Amino acid sequence: MANENKNRDLKTRLVHAGERQAPPEAQPVATPIYASATFTYDSMDEMDQVFAGEKQGYVYTRYGNPTIGALEEAMRDLEEGATACAYSTGMAAVHAALLACDLRAGSVVLASQDLYGATTSLLHNVFTAFGVKTTTVDFSDLAAVREKAREIHPQVLVVETISNPLLKVCDIEAVVAIARENSARLIVDNTFATPYLRQPLKHGVDLVVHSATKYLGGHADTMGGVVVSRDEFDREALFSVMKLVGGVLGVWDAHQILRGLKTLAVRMDRQCENARALANRLNEHERITRVHFPGVGALVAIELRDNTKEGAFRFMDALQLCVRSTSLGDVFTSVLHPATASHRDLTPSRRQELGIVDGLVRISVGIESIDDIVADVEQALIK
Ligand code: PLP
Repeated sequence: MANENKNRDLKTRLVHAGERQAPPEAQPVATPIYASATFTYDSMDEMDQVFAGEKQGYVYTRYGNPTIGALEEAMRDLEEGATACAYSTGMAAVHAALLACDLRAGSVVLASQDLYGATTSLLHNVFTAFGVKTTTVDFSDLAAVREKAREIHPQVLVVETISNPLLKVCDIEAVVAIARENSARLIVDNTFATPYLRQPLKHGVDLVVHSATKYLGGHADTMGGVVVSRDEFDREALFSVMKLVGGVLGVWDAHQILRGLKTLAVRMDRQCENARALANRLNEHERITRVHFPGVGALVAIELRDNTKEGAFRFMDALQLCVRSTSLGDVFTSVLHPATASHRDLTPSRRQELGIVDGLVRISVGIESIDDIVADVEQALIK
């Protein structure tokens, strides 16, 4: 190509110079960022074979890309699934998992009442419009889940490994049993636990969903989502959602998330240890009436004695180290007020029913020195 290019006009050479070199013989130790929207082949026959699925390869990044593929393979491996597909955000992944369960007009979904607010809204606002009916129940009350499932015959059950913001831990094996009794598929959002703490597919869950924006990325600088399935059969549906709906993960984000995965264990160990220490420290605090810490994970939720929005805001505004931010799972400690953020769209009475009181503050504990985190929270509590 280089020699041929020499005889061409500079205007042409500018476009093609240096491009499409043979891949280096040496294997890069880290996955390169394949920032290419399309891929070419020496012959049309070859490209035709790739399009036909007769030959492995890439043709267009919305259909697949080596950097995104590396992340998908990493997540398939870590969750011990059969296939994985990455999407632009966690919500795109939740949407894809629901579509992969073949929901259609008349289908019934039984969802945890404690799901992330946008997931609940997706089911109620978007899927309802297409004739899918969603009923919610408290998944920590297994008898209630079993009874409701028998009554409504759901096609799909949806729950989170650790719920938001009250941090209820799901008894995955029991919920798998209920799903099986009803021949329903089970989707578990494993964002709060990550495959480092829980691998739901190993217990019989059908599809695991992640917001990779959280612990997997871990640095608040990227967004992404992943679905991992226990069954190779789901591959076609998951990839077809990616191709046709188009919520494709960017290659730069895929690279950031792949990089994040490498330190997940180290971050999680420190974050979980810090969360336990913070929860223990706050348990007896006179300005706190209740500490929610399930003994697993790196989130702690506290209920302030001044159980008002103003009290929660005063505490949060007084923090000097912990960051007020609408996310979790980052290397820094962050705080969120569920009543005005993740659960803002619920009516006050529904929030009350769910236990999301005005004085509730969720803390995503970071990797900083625990002494500094505790000092910051304690000084803010007495303001
Ligand atoms: N699932 C859970 C449990 C979440 O907390 C979130 C976001 O906060 C999502 C899904 C959605 O992820 P994203 O913001 O990447 O779309």
